[in-house]
Amino acid sequence: MPILTIPSVYQGASQAWLSLLGSGNDALFAVFTMWLSTEITFWSVNLLFYFIEVKGWFVKYKLHKEATDRDLFKSTLLHKPITYLVDVPIYWASYKMTGLFHTDPPGPHSALPSISEIILHVVVCTITFDFLFYSWHRSLHTQALYRFHKKHHEVKVTYACANDHEDILEVTGNIAWKMIPPAVLGAHVYTVCIFRSLVKFFALLHHSGYELPIFQPIQAIPFMSSPTDHDFHHYNGHSNYGGVFMIWDYLCGTHRTWDEKAERLGIRKSLIQTLSQRQKIALVQKDFTEMDDKSLVKLAQEDLKIDATTHGDKRRFPRDEHNHVDAVK
Ligand SMILES: [Zn+2]
Ligand SMILES: [Zn+2]
Repeated sequence: MPILTIPSVYQGASQAWLSLLGSGNDALFAVFTMWLSTEITFWSVNLLFYFIEVKGWFVKYKLHKEATDRDLFKSTLLHKPITYLVDVPIYWASYKMTGLFHTDPPGPHSALPSISEIILHVVVCTITFDFLFYSWHRSLHTQALYRFHKKHHEVKVTYACANDHEDILEVTGNIAWKMIPPAVLGAHVYTVCIFRSLVKFFALLHHSGYELPIFQPIQAIPFMSSPTDHDFHHYNGHSNYGGVFMIWDYLCGTHRTWDEKAERLGIRKSLIQTLSQRQKIALVQKDFTEMDDKSLVKLAQEDLKIDATTHGDKRRFPRDEHNHVDAVK
């Protein structure tokens, strides 16, 4: 939880700002707190996953055996300050836009909203953003717009900050879809800090390339996306366009899983269900080094059965590998 989303810390920062700079700098305080809470989330989550990989912790929960591409990782971080040139003006525009929709919107130094209002605004903003993001992301996979999304898909095996490995036009859209809903709702800046931090956290988690047990309870939330869902999108270049949720992928028929891909290769469901995500992904890549002895024996037995009945026809790879453009699907 970013420190600025703790009520007493936000209120303390507000008081300190007023006593140092006085009133009249409300927009600056709003932009600064929204930007800072998002950045605290970005850097803390990234550091967590960076150390997990560097130290070699939780290897069995890493989705791919390949390590993070160091050059891509460096280029993502070097490009990061450029995104500030886009997101800071959008934070400012969003704060100002609130006045267009509401005659007396709450200022950043106003009393904090009630818990029920915070929850309602965060939920409405997240669901609205998710729809906008799905539509935007899917349109970026068309022939006309894929050139603006190509940079993001340079990352095949994801790492947390790959979320920000984007063309500047893509960054603009992604931030705009997040900042329009709170402006229309007239949400308090404190609520926007929570919403931005939450959405940023999910974006980083879903790019992390790990299915850590500590985050598994989140999967109990209906239609929630996961690191595996977004890994499938990056590795295969299509499907699973959702951001926080997979609602629109389910409704539009664009949700795909590694399980389905393994099944299409002729691997039995009963065996797939016994494997970890890492093993399933390796198996789809015809890499058997991740399999334990028991699974290998099962696989060999099934292979014999399949060969006997279908002469191995089911073991062909599907033709949709690495097709990034969705226009004809
Ligand atoms: Zn994409
Ligand atoms: Zn991505």
